[in-house]
Amino acid sequence: MAQRESRSPIVPIVALLLLAVVAGDLARRAVLRPAAPPGAAPSPRAAPGVPDSAPGRMIAAAGAGSLAAAVAVTAPLDAATRTAVLQRIERDGADTYLPAMLASGDSTLHRWGDDRRSRPVRVAVLRDAVPGFHDMFVANVGWAITQWNAVGLPIYLEQVADTAGADIVLTWADRLDSNRAGRADVTWERGGSFVHVHITLATHAPDGRQVSPPEMVALALHELGHALGLGHSPVAADALHPETSALDLTARDRRTALLLYALPPGSLR
Ligand SMILES: [Zn+2]
Repeated sequence: MAQRESRSPIVPIVALLLLAVVAGDLARRAVLRPAAPPGAAPSPRAAPGVPDSAPGRMIAAAGAGSLAAAVAVTAPLDAATRTAVLQRIERDGADTYLPAMLASGDSTLHRWGDDRRSRPVRVAVLRDAVPGFHDMFVANVGWAITQWNAVGLPIYLEQVADTAGADIVLTWADRLDSNRAGRADVTWERGGSFVHVHITLATHAPDGRQVSPPEMVALALHELGHALGLGHSPVAADALHPETSALDLTARDRRTALLLYALPPGSLR
């Protein structure tokens, strides 16, 4: 269920920009999934630096909440483009969650613009002294960035350590609002292209439990998906499901992102 955000930490950069907040992410409640059974072969795609959970331990996943409450109107696509986009979604969207995103949101596609194909989207992953912060979390986010870069999107995420010139800034919090473990505040311009994203990840789940490194991978995958323009998936296994413990992107996550970046941003209304 969509959770509206009426505030934004971001000040409009220039007069032409319309401020919008996609928001509120995260973790409504922790999702518990059993760890791999004792003796099971470790996943070849296990995140580097993320310790396997002990046999029998539960991996709790930080879930995610709702996305997208635009407080500004995105310009509609012209009629011919709109028709072409809808036909493309009809043709190629069956095994993606793009239709679900449009149905649950404001019928608008938001993403980084095509002008970013030649210029990396810089992700500033800051270190912080909030309680529960661990240096490994930075590597967890790096692993998530690597996974998104492996999708083959026309844009590239570049991890940097400071905010100068950063397009996406990722900071940490001890805890977020009730039932959240992460959030993505997104600003886009009137044409629907992203201008800036601020991701906040919590070091503690809503119930006060310390977020583990695997959980941080799941959180980062999820929030970075929002930072690329994805909405929520209705399929539990996907990284963009509102309650996720996915340590890898699914084929559906990848297909959805690729389709999003094959379509122009803008309102389909
Ligand atoms: Zn989310």
